[in-house]
Amino acid sequence: MKLTKEQPKQKETTVVHEYLDEVFNTVLQRNPGEEEFHQAVASFFKSLVPILEKHPIYMEKGILEQLVEPERVISFRVPWVDDSGKINVNRGFRVQFNSAIGPYKGGLRFHPTVNLSVVKFLGFNQVFKNSLTGLPIGGGKGGADFDPKGKSDNEIMRFCQSFMTELAKHIGPDIDIPAGDIGVGAKEIGYMFGQYKRMAGASHTGVLTGKGINYGGSLGRKEATGYGAVYFVREMLKHKGATINNSTFVVSGSGNVSIYAMEKAIELGAKVVACSDSNGYIYDENGIDLYLVKQIKEVHSDRISEYVKYHPEAKYVDDSTGIWSIPCDVVLPCATQNEISEEAAKQLVANGVKVIAEGANMPSTAEAVNVFVNNEIMYAPAKAVNAGGVAVSSLEMAQNSMRLSWNFGAVDEQLQEIMTKIYHNCVTSAKEYGHKDNLLIGANIAGFIKVADTMIEQGVI
Ligand code: NDP
Repeated sequence: MKLTKEQPKQKETTVVHEYLDEVFNTVLQRNPGEEEFHQAVASFFKSLVPILEKHPIYMEKGILEQLVEPERVISFRVPWVDDSGKINVNRGFRVQFNSAIGPYKGGLRFHPTVNLSVVKFLGFNQVFKNSLTGLPIGGGKGGADFDPKGKSDNEIMRFCQSFMTELAKHIGPDIDIPAGDIGVGAKEIGYMFGQYKRMAGASHTGVLTGKGINYGGSLGRKEATGYGAVYFVREMLKHKGATINNSTFVVSGSGNVSIYAMEKAIELGAKVVACSDSNGYIYDENGIDLYLVKQIKEVHSDRISEYVKYHPEAKYVDDSTGIWSIPCDVVLPCATQNEISEEAAKQLVANGVKVIAEGANMPSTAEAVNVFVNNEIMYAPAKAVNAGGVAVSSLEMAQNSMRLSWNFGAVDEQLQEIMTKIYHNCVTSAKEYGHKDNLLIGANIAGFIKVADTMIEQGVI
């Protein structure tokens, strides 16, 4: 009896694996050299085995074949003049990945490492992240290989204007609504919004999110990704009967996500002992002085190494990867992709880490994720943990449509509700598909179902 019960299951699993391998091979062939994109698709596909076994309709309808191909990829020249009069040329991108459940939504990244693979991995994951928020937004992502570091304000403005001169042809409040990401904060959004408005000859407030408060930005958007990540961690700990209060945090990066994750964690009683930038990390066993970090990073755009000038008892190490050697309860990687290697993951586990919650997009390598999962560490993927940013962006769109602005408390309350729902949705999906407490599988399945079902409903096939 036992044998006959298990046989069909084995057969189904083989079929599913063969199907996933076939689709993945097409991804490899069609997108040569796009390693980050391959990594994101491979990780996602692994989670889908249980759902495809149970609901082969997704295979029959060719949903995966469609999901891995962006609806549209736009690549463009961005010429701009620097302060010395020299003409520079960068490459801009917008990948409009999937609009099944709403207009494309996702940030713009300005960083020298931006290329098509990076934008595609971000756009692919954004589709399922946006689905998880429960809000009607599709997925997209964009950016340019422009490095804002060391550029004057005027240079940044001219770059943003040139970037928007082309991007404007492809976006709109009901088409595609970009926001910020690495290297793109309120200042850059302001310059891009100004250019869009001049070109459109009208103020389409809802065309970008992350705007300044004076012209349609939402209170709480700046804080949303970091705060949201900590609200998610609160749920993870609650599940284990623990709290944030008195736990020790290590938070990488010192940009938008990192600063506001630290702020909320400290407010909830945590001790944050380390943060970093791309040059190195600081370790302050008395707890990070966040006011000082904000002064260094937000006000003066300086290096994190400046911290030890004001806190000589703290330590600065000129290697950002060393941050993972610091013992702590909770790790929030909030800097960039693949910042946690397999070795770093092993070290974190050996040091007794309890929770890994990804504030940055894909900060753990595939091998690092395996280390966390195999050691039964509470691990939550970016598409669930950092969804608070895009969720509040969507609330910004709602306020823009209504010509209203809500107070901070109202936005924050909705953010908390959304993050709690995402957490429970992940837990429920993981359990339903036989992987109790596996938030990676839970997030991928929950994000996938809504998009896949909508694609079938809309008959896009
Ligand atoms: P910012 O540009 O504001 O900050 C990025 C921070 O990470 C900077 O402190 C930067 O240091 C640091 N950093 C970059 N590379 C490394 C590295 N290799 N090691 C250590 N630190 C590094 O970006 P955000 O905070 O907006 O974004 C951070 C991550 O969060 C990204 O993965 C992004 O995609 C993701 N995210 C952001 C959202 C948002 O709302 N902003 C929403 C959802 C996800 P330096 O100053 O030296 O460059």
